[in-house]
Amino acid sequence: MHVGQSLEKGAIYLVTRTSGGRQGVVRKYRDWLPGIPDWAIVTLGEGETPLIEAPHLSERIGTRLYLKFEGMNPTASFKDRGMTVALSVAVAGASRACICASTGNTAAAAAAYSARAGISCFVVVPAGKIALGKAVQVLAHGAKIIQIQGNFDAALKLSQKAAEDLGDVVLVNSVNPDRIEGQKTASLELCEALGRPPDTLVLPVGNAGNITAYWKGFKEWRGAGFADTAPRMFGFQAEGASPLVTGRDFEHPETVASAIRIGAPASKEGALTAVRESGGLIESVTDEEILHAQALLAGEEGVFCEPASAAGIAGLLKLAGEDRCPEGTIVSVLTGHGLKDPDVILKRASLPEPVPATFEALVGSMEKAERAER
Ligand SMILES: *Cc1c(COP(=O)(O)O)cnc(C)c1O
Repeated sequence: MHVGQSLEKGAIYLVTRTSGGRQGVVRKYRDWLPGIPDWAIVTLGEGETPLIEAPHLSERIGTRLYLKFEGMNPTASFKDRGMTVALSVAVAGASRACICASTGNTAAAAAAYSARAGISCFVVVPAGKIALGKAVQVLAHGAKIIQIQGNFDAALKLSQKAAEDLGDVVLVNSVNPDRIEGQKTASLELCEALGRPPDTLVLPVGNAGNITAYWKGFKEWRGAGFADTAPRMFGFQAEGASPLVTGRDFEHPETVASAIRIGAPASKEGALTAVRESGGLIESVTDEEILHAQALLAGEEGVFCEPASAAGIAGLLKLAGEDRCPEGTIVSVLTGHGLKDPDVILKRASLPEPVPATFEALVGSMEKAERAER
């Protein structure tokens, strides 16, 4: 049973429509996406995320920088853009369940959109490797977690085989082309918001579906005659998980940025094509540089993203330090929200001891805190 079959048309509208202006990317970009019947649309109002100016970071790198804050999607990462399309197609095709391998955010998005669609969701994750906020989301939405004693790449191979052999179970990883279609809508939004494509797009790269999707979106925008140009694509991997930089797969990828802890990117060709065709680059940054960038974003711009999302900013700061930062308008994609991974913050900061509830103690603590900051 799925939503489309179990309810009559009027009721389905209540199930799938969101109010408050956000119609979701399937309705907004209907002409750019695979055909999906209205009754099958599974949306939580994803997309239309803020494009935020970053004055302090712009000054540091010497050119105009915007942040596309994808942490403002319904499950707090860009994965929602792809998942609305993948789950809508699954509902239209009467699939029984979906399955995915995940470092966390794919699982959180699949869990939420499956719950909405009324189909089962299985997520296969490397044991002990999923950030707290993401695990909590999967549990909250009632998806079934299978922890395997293996890395992400093993999880993906197993999920792929399950989908192939079982038939009515859809794989909703980004090797599913519907995911890429949905994710490319972020490029279209950017071109609309800026009035033209940015000169450079910067983003973290893990399995490389997103850089593939953005490039597809920019090419289609140009192909439709809305612009003569497309941005240079700058991808950044974490040093301990940088197969696209070193040219060899990593058997044991390791980085604090769990969302890009991937040793054998499934969309490797897409990433390399995007970089080659756009005149871009793929380089790596260290965990230290990633955490520094995350702290600058949160502390100076007021934008809290998860570690992986800060890899692009870390990369820009590195390029600026070497006098290699590109000129013109740069957009850095902040792929997921900082609340996804509270442990990273709690490792370097904690709540202070309580003080008496007196004015003296309050003022004393305020002075002490300001001294410590200097
Ligand atoms: C999935 C994800 C990435 C990596 O995207 P790919 O398409 O795998 O390259 C980066 N950051 C966050 C927060 C993610 O969830």
